[in-house]
Amino acid sequence: MEGPARTPTPSNLFSFSRLKTFAQCPLRYRYRYLQGMREAFRSIEAHLGMVVHDVLEWLYQERAEGGDPGQGEALRRFDGQWQERWTDDVAIVRVGDSPEVYSRRGRELVASFHDTVFTIDRSETLALEQRLSVRLSPDVVFTGFADRVGRTAGGRLFVVDYKTSSREGNSSDFSEGLQAPLYASCVMERHGGESCLAGYHYLRHGTTRWEEISRERGEQLRARFLALARDAIVAQEFPARPGPLCAWCGFNRICPEAMVPDHLSGGQTA
Ligand code: SF4
Repeated sequence: MEGPARTPTPSNLFSFSRLKTFAQCPLRYRYRYLQGMREAFRSIEAHLGMVVHDVLEWLYQERAEGGDPGQGEALRRFDGQWQERWTDDVAIVRVGDSPEVYSRRGRELVASFHDTVFTIDRSETLALEQRLSVRLSPDVVFTGFADRVGRTAGGRLFVVDYKTSSREGNSSDFSEGLQAPLYASCVMERHGGESCLAGYHYLRHGTTRWEEISRERGEQLRARFLALARDAIVAQEFPARPGPLCAWCGFNRICPEAMVPDHLSGGQTA
């Protein structure tokens, strides 16, 4: 059950997902970040994403240590992590689906990434799952984790975020217009350089979208993030914003305004 299982997030610490939650549903934001309540379930899509991210990180870590992992090893890693990271609170939101549907999809994503991206990737890895943190003002610190930071074979600095979602985003999206570009700004501070490529790799589509971020653009993005964080800090009201995401919200059993259709009620009944 939901409950105050942990302390609220420090009021000055803002991750990208914190801001995104505030933008999507202020009530969910209040439950999670201000009251420190734990969501009642994790969706199986989130579990799949976590395990795929683990395998990709492992592949590049192995390579950095002189290894040359094949597809079979990557799939064994996937299977092992799928089991190891499975917890009782994983919920299948789409009623009627089985865990096998998702593990099969995850294996396909890993196999495809291994064969079409990893094996031909000649870039250098500088960091994996790197924690980025920067003070934007006395009252706001930005924090986040970059999936992979590296240099292209031509020496250009980059940061890439891996997406397992079914939809390819675009730079006008709240998330994708801000997240990787903001990480790129932090990466320049950490690793030097006057520009950094910010990319999203969409595993389901096998595509990567890059944007070059200059230091000046980085400053603009930080200012934008700061303004959004201040909106959250000064907010006095936290209205529910029911919509399609309610089915995946771990507070949908207690939220008075949750809108969850029967065919997506797996989180409520898990
Ligand atoms: S169930 Fe929907 S409206 Fe309620 S907190 Fe979650 S996302 Fe917001």
